[in-house]
Amino acid sequence: QRRNAGEPEFQQAVQEVLASLAPVLERRPELREARILERMVEPERQMMFRVPWVDDAGQVQVNRGFRIQFNSAIGVYKGGLRFHPSVNASILKFLGFEQVFKNALTTLPLGGGKGGADFDPKGKSDAEVMRFCQSFMTELQRHIGADTDVPAGDIGVGAREIGFLFGQYRRIRNDFTGVLTGKGVGWGGSLLRPEATGYGAVYFAEEMLKTRQQGLAGKVCAVSGAGNVAQYTVEKLNQLGAKVVTLSDSGGTIYDPAGIDAEKLAWVMALKNVRRGRISEYAQVFNAEYLAGKRPWGIPCDCAFPSATQNEIDGTDAQTLLANGCTLVCEGANMPCTPAAFALFQAAHTLLAPSKAANAGGVATSGLEMSQNALRMGWTREEVDAKLHGIMVNIHRTCFETAAAYGQAGNYVVGANIAGFVKVADAMLAQGII
Ligand code: NDP
Repeated sequence: QRRNAGEPEFQQAVQEVLASLAPVLERRPELREARILERMVEPERQMMFRVPWVDDAGQVQVNRGFRIQFNSAIGVYKGGLRFHPSVNASILKFLGFEQVFKNALTTLPLGGGKGGADFDPKGKSDAEVMRFCQSFMTELQRHIGADTDVPAGDIGVGAREIGFLFGQYRRIRNDFTGVLTGKGVGWGGSLLRPEATGYGAVYFAEEMLKTRQQGLAGKVCAVSGAGNVAQYTVEKLNQLGAKVVTLSDSGGTIYDPAGIDAEKLAWVMALKNVRRGRISEYAQVFNAEYLAGKRPWGIPCDCAFPSATQNEIDGTDAQTLLANGCTLVCEGANMPCTPAAFALFQAAHTLLAPSKAANAGGVATSGLEMSQNALRMGWTREEVDAKLHGIMVNIHRTCFETAAAYGQAGNYVVGANIAGFVKVADAMLAQGII
């Protein structure tokens, strides 16, 4: 705690994991003796760098860039880049730490990392975003590589940014390799990568419901965010017969009791991915309610899919969701529930999917993109979807069975933490004191 003073998000993520691990360390004293935990909470390497660029008015701007290479015991560092004004070392260390466990759960050989910058792409022209990305990559390129560290997108880093970043990497290194994932399908990307995180979260939710002999058909769902994860969560929920009644962005929430069907979702995708507009416009176009400055959690729902950002469901939101009859919470975003919300959901036996399990479909499909790049081949959409589905079913089973093996049946939080930890810890133990 002393060493990480001033890093509340990182401390929150570590404490949540540590709270699950006491029974493992009791059963496996050799992990305690090798001080695996103490080593795991310290990133292997952490870079922080200046990102200077010139805006459209000819002014020099300066941002701060980061890459946290957290753990490579089971594979190359892998994890997204986030461009958002709130980015700092604490947020990226929490995301990198979570990524280590998540990547272990995918069963693919992927270590954990995370990076980004305190740059806000909102309101910037394409040319400004390009110049920023080129400057960011001019420094980042010396730290990454297809066999070292393979970044991807996250908040504020979508197809446009990955394109600019990849172009600059290729230009500097004269090397066409799978150094980033989330690339365009015409230049090394995988089919279904954009859909993967949202689809994967819904596949996980489906598996949880099966343990109670239920399905998603007819379920009323509240989704937050309106970005990549939220959009494809809505798409898959619609395909499985659920009704999604909310979306949001940092301005507020739209509530559409009639449901956000495929046609309305296509409009949202054009709004957010092409026009880069605000979700409030939806309310006018489709005659829905707009709740300015509000999150979706006051809307009655059966299932909640927080898909925007960290700590977006606090204790009060959790109480409201429970009072309104919500029985499933599936974390599409990273750590969207505060510890108080987690405790309330667990006490109420809510089906609660922690982000490191529920949103692992994104990084898993990034892993599949790396495999396709290495093979210099591309799989069909159906092949990638089948693999993604298989991976999510497998992650669910692993979490479920691990929780049961430790006397905590149905506790996916404990199951995910223990299963991810044991895989990485065993690799670290085998590789010596490094
Ligand atoms: P996007 O940038 O595509 O979308 C983010 C959405 O969340 C936007 O609607 C944004 O609204 C909203 N949002 C962001 N920050 C805040 C905030 N502080 N308060 C309220 N709303 C906010 O990002 P993604 O969809 O890719 O990522 C969403 C979450 O999912 C993140 O937690 C990310 O780490 C996680 N994730 C993403 C993966 C991926 O494959 N993309 C993989 C695994 C996890 P606005 O535009 O107004 O800022």
